[in-house]
Amino acid sequence: MERRLLGRTGLEVSALGFGGAPLGGEFGPIDEAEGRRAVRHAFDRGITYFDVAPYYGRTRAETLLGEALRGIRDRVVLATKVGRYGKADFDFRPQRVFTSLEESLIRLQTDVIDVVFVHDIEFGELGPILSETIPALERARDQGKVRAIGVSGLPLPVLRRAVEGARLDVVLSYCHYHLADTTLEDGLAVMAADRGVGVVNASPLAQGMLTQAGPPEWHPGPPALKAACRLAAEACAREGADLAALALRFAVETPIVATTLVGISTVAQVDRNLEAIASPLDRVLLERVRAVLEPVEGSTWPSGRPENSS
Ligand code: NAD
Repeated sequence: MERRLLGRTGLEVSALGFGGAPLGGEFGPIDEAEGRRAVRHAFDRGITYFDVAPYYGRTRAETLLGEALRGIRDRVVLATKVGRYGKADFDFRPQRVFTSLEESLIRLQTDVIDVVFVHDIEFGELGPILSETIPALERARDQGKVRAIGVSGLPLPVLRRAVEGARLDVVLSYCHYHLADTTLEDGLAVMAADRGVGVVNASPLAQGMLTQAGPPEWHPGPPALKAACRLAAEACAREGADLAALALRFAVETPIVATTLVGISTVAQVDRNLEAIASPLDRVLLERVRAVLEPVEGSTWPSGRPENSS
């Protein structure tokens, strides 16, 4: 497994990272024992970057990941988040940041978090996030509880403003570098590279849209985008190919990111995803699928406060 430096943090991460949202049951019911086995199997096969959040399964994913990493914690790069605790439950104030971190340390069975993200910053006011939340995390870093600090979210404008306005180590963007959307390249990735900020690309399968099975019920994507992804899945099926494998192979090829985070909860998914990134990219199929997706290229959906999306 290829490893890359995460910006100037000094942390080295596997080019494919383990996304922990499915461990919290965010994409459907899960078998916890299988989830723990998937984590160990991923580690055994070279995945060393694990991403989770208190929000995923309302703490369940963190607890499960903490159990699964027992004994190997020091050999992985562990990322979690602060600020989001429910679908509409956000609290970016310093006091909650400190208690959230303490709770995460306990659930993750560790005394330091390698990377902490302010979770889905578009739901907050950017001013106080930069002037209060980030400094609170810097104090936690001074106390040795955190190694690197970042922000995450969907709208690229607010992520760009955060990278400009604070001294961040890492930025996590999701659903903006995949077969139907490469807008992560348009400004954020360049700006981050210029400043030595590591870029994490999450959701290379567009949160399930770029799979044969299609997205979960709750997926907020626009109907036209979902319909085009369904057509892309049908085009792959006609060729005996798997849309998820193509999507993942496409996403990991970009050099603009340190790591690509795919959501995983089973051993079979670990193997399928590793096989996908080790296979040659089928450029003929890629062209065909991108042509199907071309009419919806770059479509996104509202998330958070409107002022954070422009
Ligand atoms: P994703 O695009 O990785 O898709 C996940 C879905 O695809 C799940 O249903 C999973 O079971 C399925 N899947 C995985 N491998 C598959 C395969 N080979 N074939 C078919 N289906 C497969 O979306 P995601 O999970 O949202 O994103 C990855 C991770 O990035 C998350 O788990 C989370 O850790 C992180 N993330 C963070 C934020 C944030 O901080 N705001 C947002 C999104 C994602």
